[in-house]
Amino acid sequence: MHRRALILTIALALAAGSAAAADDPRRVPDLLRADLNGAAVSRVVIPDVLLGAAGIAHAQRNCGTPSPLPSELESVRSSVQRFSQENATRAPGGTVRIAFHVITGGGLGNVSDAQIAEQVRVLNRDYSGSGYRFELASVDRTEDKAWFKMTPGTGKEKAAKQALAIDPAHRLNLYTCAPGQNLLGWAYFPWSAPESNVIHGVVIHFESLPGGVAPYDLGKTATHEIGHYLGLLHTFQGGCVPPGDEVDDTPFEASPAFGCQIGRNTCPQPGDDPIHNYMDYSDDACLTEFTAGQVARSQSIIPVYRPSLFEPAAAIAAAREAPALLTDNEPEDGRVLAYRGGMPNPFRGETAIRFTLPASGPVSLKVYSVTGQLVRTLLDAQLPPGDHSAMFTAGDLPSGVYFSVLRAGGVQMSRALVLVK
Ligand SMILES: [Zn+2]
Repeated sequence: MHRRALILTIALALAAGSAAAADDPRRVPDLLRADLNGAAVSRVVIPDVLLGAAGIAHAQRNCGTPSPLPSELESVRSSVQRFSQENATRAPGGTVRIAFHVITGGGLGNVSDAQIAEQVRVLNRDYSGSGYRFELASVDRTEDKAWFKMTPGTGKEKAAKQALAIDPAHRLNLYTCAPGQNLLGWAYFPWSAPESNVIHGVVIHFESLPGGVAPYDLGKTATHEIGHYLGLLHTFQGGCVPPGDEVDDTPFEASPAFGCQIGRNTCPQPGDDPIHNYMDYSDDACLTEFTAGQVARSQSIIPVYRPSLFEPAAAIAAAREAPALLTDNEPEDGRVLAYRGGMPNPFRGETAIRFTLPASGPVSLKVYSVTGQLVRTLLDAQLPPGDHSAMFTAGDLPSGVYFSVLRAGGVQMSRALVLVK
């Protein structure tokens, strides 16, 4: 089979490092993960007929982003106000780097690289003029039937994100799968957890990518969910009751609009319902705009709650943040020491090195050249049990093979990393 052949090829190319770790067998090997240029992408293309045959009917848009409480929104409002009083205004917006995670179930959901590229293009078009740009940083593919059907707030979601999320403070982790509860997608607001928490990111139905299943097949679901990720509420938030969606230039709307109901007007306040707004529930073809007020809202929120989003990931910063990733996650029973190595690998520029600790203790993670010279100390700290990652930024290091060595719990494990420039 194609995948197996690929694993073998890469395994031969990287015939180095020990594999003492008992990795979860459900996970696709790290080596299948793609680098920026798709060098290691599994190129299994699902024919259109199969995409359409998933048997999941999207009768109407259904977003699973948890509805914020009024008290929550009030606290966000005062934090943003305080921040803007205490800080000079800075250049709004920036480039959001996307770590794209394709989750498949029985081979279903294996969206093509072309669809992923088209989705990123759609995001850049829909967000043009907002100050936000999107760039594909990495693509990885994982087969897991349970994660494929995950829903918000469940153990499946937590497990998938703990295993797959890359550096949430500096990356938008975007997952495709086929969520249960007939959901098209969901996200978490910037204020819902510390920026480095793995829960952050956006999950969308794989059939909502461009080329998916009508009427949600133009990639607008990602635009909508990323709107939440960037701090925007549904246009029908709060119905006709002020402050509604906390944005002045989106007319009040009593309930979600479906299809494309031009002239719909559900509230006594002025203005027809904002049915063309990306934060409503209309069909993809009907969604065409963000307002200036929404852009301003997002740009006031991001510096407060996602201050690291546009900064390039630094190895040291990632290492310092590692303990925070699991502050609210209970270690699972049966967790074993696992060293997953770099993702992507081979890599250009930087790669995330991941491992799982069964218990807390001192951990060191160092990178050596093939001649045994220490080139980086990525981590030398006491860490709690759970999944961790540290970024290895190659900087001006020459192309070639390096070894990342993890020392934890009296065990030493090494993995080869291939830097390609
Ligand atoms: Zn939504």
